[in-house]
Amino acid sequence: MEKELIAYDYKSQLLEDRKQKIKEIKFKVCRKCGEKKPVFKFSIDKRNRNGIANICKACLNLASLDYYYHNRESRLALVKKYDKEHKDQRRIYSESYREDHFDHLQKEAKIYYRKNRKRIKKRDLKRKGVKNI
Ligand SMILES: [Zn+2]
Repeated sequence: MEKELIAYDYKSQLLEDRKQKIKEIKFKVCRKCGEKKPVFKFSIDKRNRNGIANICKACLNLASLDYYYHNRESRLALVKKYDKEHKDQRRIYSESYREDHFDHLQKEAKIYYRKNRKRIKKRDLKRKGVKNI
């Protein structure tokens, strides 16, 4: 029991030290773009000794966009696979979402219809089998 307490104290002390260091560090240089930026422009990274990521948020966003662009097919396949495996969960979630956001969704649908009226009418006629529109 005492050992656990000591370990807990040690961990909370480490946490306090980390918080203190974050307060002390006001600026940090991004490893990717090399710009000196205030610490709030960096994400929290517990793996780092000072608790702040080495790459700024803007660079991380760019990197993740780049990753998505280059791995789009595999990412989409993963999402599709997940949806297939969690079909019931997804259905329950979207049903409850539609119930909870009914008014908002109806408002958005009206706006969408107003903006795309011609296209929607054309599509509906096509579905009914009318040709030469
Ligand atoms: Zn950067």
